Formats: sequence, structure tokens, C-alpha cells
Amino acid sequence: MAALMDYDKALEIFEPVIGLEVHVELNTRTKMFSASGNPANDEFQGAGPNTLVSPVDLGLPGSMPTVNAEAVRKSISLGLALGCSIAPSSRFARKNYFYPDLGKNYQISQYDEPIAFEGSVEVELEDGTIFTVPIERAHMEEDAGKLTHVGGSTGRIQGADHSLVDYNRAGVPLVEIVTHPIFGAEHRAPELAKAYLGTIRDIARSLGISEARMERGNVRCDANVSLRPRGAEKLGTRTETKNVNSMRSVERAVRYEIRRQAAILADGGTITQETRHWHEDTGETSPGRPKSDADDYRYFPEPDLLPVAPSEELIEELRAQLPEAPAVKRRRLKAEWGFTDLEFQDVANGGLTDVVEQTIAAGAAPQSARKWWTGEITRLANAADREPADMVSPAHVAQLQQLVDAGTLTDKLARQVLEGVIAGEGDPQQVVDARGLAVVSDDGALIAAIDDALAAQPDVMEKIKGGKVQAAGAIIGAVMKAMKGQADAARVRELILERAQA
Ligand code: ADP
Ligand code: MG
Repeated sequence: MAALMDYDKALEIFEPVIGLEVHVELNTRTKMFSASGNPANDEFQGAGPNTLVSPVDLGLPGSMPTVNAEAVRKSISLGLALGCSIAPSSRFARKNYFYPDLGKNYQISQYDEPIAFEGSVEVELEDGTIFTVPIERAHMEEDAGKLTHVGGSTGRIQGADHSLVDYNRAGVPLVEIVTHPIFGAEHRAPELAKAYLGTIRDIARSLGISEARMERGNVRCDANVSLRPRGAEKLGTRTETKNVNSMRSVERAVRYEIRRQAAILADGGTITQETRHWHEDTGETSPGRPKSDADDYRYFPEPDLLPVAPSEELIEELRAQLPEAPAVKRRRLKAEWGFTDLEFQDVANGGLTDVVEQTIAAGAAPQSARKWWTGEITRLANAADREPADMVSPAHVAQLQQLVDAGTLTDKLARQVLEGVIAGEGDPQQVVDARGLAVVSDDGALIAAIDDALAAQPDVMEKIKGGKVQAAGAIIGAVMKAMKGQADAARVRELILERAQA
């Protein structure tokens, strides 16, 4: 295990600089350069290995690529959402490398003429601070196939006795978004990396250009980290930790690299410019391959494809269709809902913004919607190790709240009804009917229970008549208990006081 410096100490001596490369798989119906089904589109989820392949994806001699117009439109939309300029003409290039995950021995990518360049993204940190991340470029490329190394203990090629290759992913349209080096995040650099990845996912999702499911690899991140001594001008040597594909992992990986590099540098050592692997289980990175800036991929313009030259009209049409940016939308919702900073962060950090919005749209008051989702539903979800949004529909939550507002349910009964809804017993009204959970406000039933309670505590009525109105609480409590919490407490109170005046 590598020596690690204490995080705060590392930040006293060094300034961290990070750079993030995020790959977004587009959810076009077909691939970047062929008519094969795209496994990054939900329609083709779960396709068997090598069933979504064509001669182009396999790189068979004589096959010719064709640019997918939908992929270009989606790439432009993403570029625009990142505040980038769109190139009036951009070119594909061949990035040559020899590895069996791409049959052609080169990847079609973009090099010196990316489709989108120079933008910025507003990223909101957990406490609501906005950090602007500068974007260098966003370029189109194709994904490579997937290798499975069999026989070793680590799943890596070392020690394996053979490898399997699935070309379904070969040719999946990708946009690679590359940031400029990010300065000034300081001790929050790991948190910023996490929040940035989440922001890119949210933007991709709001544009509808990607399924944007990180657990499926639709959004993948390489995290570059370097340190420089405080006051130094020159950037330190970076490492590039590959494929850290969850928000939590990218935060941990950046933090780990800061501590590891700090220990080496403080000890007089040097950082090797290399790729590194992230290990989720141990929370460590390990060396991959050395990677110099002069790595020679022999890039040259792809001779089989024309430049992509979107018209000004197309760009403006796509710009006009851009949805509200997630950060702008958050600010608007916070104001509309009248939430405090803390209330809103609770919702946003819990990933509950969409369901709260839908619950309000279905008729619930903002504060009620917030309380259900951040309170009881989150609690039940945590206990069941599930996502709150997968537990119950916003429409049912709104219905539940309507039953509370109408006096049919107390908060306590409503929580029981919620459990019934989550257990699949039907919608809130059906659960109320089936379990007989509605509040009883029928005077006949209430008076009978009050009579019983008064008979059991004969001194109480005297006290109330003598002016100690709060003594009614004992009777209300007894009635509630007798009626399993389903008595309309306000009505019980009225009936007791009426009785005392009689
Ligand atoms: P590569 O071909 O190595 O992937 P890219 O240009 O695609 O290079 O991405 C490199 C990323 O690393 C960019 O986000 C860039 O801003 C960032 N970067 C470059 N130099 C440094 C550095 N010294 N420290 C941290 N990040 C850096
Ligand atoms: Mg790169």
C-alpha cells in the first residue's frame, strides 16, 4: 500500500489541480457510423454478445462508415448546453492503436477540430456554492468493444488464460467532454469532481441525449490530478485515473491521489505521468500504463468521412430547443417552492428534486411534498436499501397528502397507508378502504368511546368543569388508544368540552 499524507497537511503544502474527461454515451437508435442497434439505447438493453454488430463495427476490409445525423444533433445540443461554441466545420480523425477491442486498429475520434469547444458549466456544491468549471472541448467519437479476461483472479489481462471480446459496444456514439485544468477548488477538489460528474449526468438527462445511467457505464469519468507546491507557477505532473464511474468513486479517487502524490513529493520523489486504475473495494489507485503528452497515436484526418458542417439554422434550432439548465432550474424551483437553503439542499442532495416537483405538480403543497420525500419515504428507502424514487409514485404521495388535508387521515395513519402503498396494496384510497384506516369523525362512535373513557376516569369531568380544560387530554388520549389512533382528535375534544358545558 502506498504511503499517504494526511489530507489537510497535503493541502497546506500543495495546491491540487484537477482535469476531468467525461464520456457520455448517446442514446441514438443506431451506432455512430453504422446501422447496428445501439446498446446504449434502452431498446437494446440486454442484447447478447456480438448481436449488435455489422461489418463497419468489426472493421472488416472494404466497409465504409456513415455519420449518424442524430448523433451529430445530440452532440451539438450537448455542446450548446455546456456553453460551447459549435464549429462550423469539424473533422473526424483516426486515432491509431493496436488492441483487439477495436477491429480496425484505430478509433474514429476528433482531434484538432472538435465539434464543440470553449464553454463552461456551473456546478453546485453540496452547500449551495456555485463553482464554474471551464470546458476545453467536447468531441464526438466511437466507443470500443468490451474485453473480458478469463482465468485470472483479478479480471485483468495479467494472469488470464484467454480473453473474450464483445463488439456490441464498438461504434457506440460518445461525446468526450474535456475540462481545462481546474484551479481554485482547493480542499473541495474531490467534492467538485463528484458534483461536476453529477452535473454532466443531469445535463445529459435533461437533454434526453443519453440514458445517463452511471451504473450502466453511460457516463464515465477519467480524473486527472496533479499537485504543485504553494506559490509555484508550473503545473505538477498529473496522473489520470481511468473509469471512475460513480460520483462517490470519483470523489474518493481524487482525494486518494492528492494524498498519495503529496506523500511522494514531500519525500523528494517524482510523480510518474501515467494512467491509474481505481479499486472500489480497497479505495486505492494502482499504476496502469505510462502516458506521456507526446503519446503518438498518429492522428490523421479520417479519409472515409466528410467534415461535419452543421448549418447555422440547425445550430439555432437546437439552441432554441435547449431545456432549462439544471442549475438554473434548481434556482427557479427553490424560489417557487419557498424553501430555505437547507430545505432545498436536503431535497437536491437526496436526488429528490424530480419527485418533489412531480408531487407538487400532482397537487401537493411544496412543504408537504418535501416532508414526505425527505422524511418518511427516505427513511423507509434507507431501511430497505432502495432509492426513495423507486418506492412510491409522486401521484400516490400527492393523493396521500390530500387525504391528510381532507381530515381523512392523521399523519400517523398516513404513514401506515404509505407503508401499504409501498407494499403494493394499491393506491392510498384503496389502502385506507382495505385496511380500514380512515379517521373516525362519526359522533356516535366517538361519543361511545368518550363515555367509556369518562367512566374509567371519573374525576376528569369534575376537573374540566372546574376550569382545568387541559385535563381533557387524558380522555382524548384514552379515546385515541381505544380507537387505534383513528379518532378525529379535534372532534373528540369538542365533544368533551360540549359535554362539560351541558
Ligand atoms: P489525454 O489525451 O491525456 O486524455 P486530454 O487533453 O484528453 O489528454 O485530457 C487531459 C485532461 O487533464 C484535461 O482535462 C486537462 O485539463 C487535464 N490536465 C492537463 N494537465 C494537467 C495537470 N498538470 N494537472 C491536472 N490536470 C491536467
Ligand atoms: Mg483524453
